[in-house]
Amino acid sequence: MTTLSPRPDFTPDSDPLDVIRWALGAHGRVLMPSAFNLNGVVLIDLAAKAGYRGEVVFVDTGYHFPETLATRDRLAARYPELTFVTLNDGASPEDGQTDPALYAADADACCAVRKVAPLQSYLRAQAPDALLNARSRDQATTRADIPFVEQGARVKVNPLAHWTRERLEAYAHEHDLPVNPLYFDGFLSVGCWTCTRAVRPGEDARAGRWAGKGKTECGLWAGGNAL
Ligand code: SF4
Repeated sequence: MTTLSPRPDFTPDSDPLDVIRWALGAHGRVLMPSAFNLNGVVLIDLAAKAGYRGEVVFVDTGYHFPETLATRDRLAARYPELTFVTLNDGASPEDGQTDPALYAADADACCAVRKVAPLQSYLRAQAPDALLNARSRDQATTRADIPFVEQGARVKVNPLAHWTRERLEAYAHEHDLPVNPLYFDGFLSVGCWTCTRAVRPGEDARAGRWAGKGKTECGLWAGGNAL
């Protein structure tokens, strides 16, 4: 297990920029996985402002909305100082990685092959010292206790842990960030088109992910094979 470097006593009011700057100073090589949701877009902007010049790593499952791929491309154009890496670039449901309908029969198995395995393989090869991640507490009850810094298989730094959706939206609006247009149609968390629906009033931001399947996480951030 990686040993944490000493860090300031962050509070819920700590500025995410300070958390990112600490992460960059305390850890030799930092890497940022992203799916380009609202949280992710805000984190990319803040990280660039804080001096991050590393990779933004996205996994193409083959089932992404065209709007998500276009959001990636807009971000890559806006932040040339960052390196946007797409794993499994050009994947498709018929590429043979899984049965094309596996997502319906066994979503955990589909995510394990199409999402978790490519990123785990990449991280094993890259061996970053820490990951920057955009999760926040108010995204879902299952994320209500996310700290700024998590230990686990890898150190994960979550600068937006205490930012609310309203604050994220205000920041994105103020800085004219390229938010996935699906967000404004109620897709507050966007995953694969096969497994995402718009959120209904009163639901939390991730309620549209794998709705009705008893599944809340893809496996990247929770479970036995988490990053
Ligand atoms: S979100 Fe759905 S389609 Fe995408 S990898 Fe997971 S199960 Fe497969």
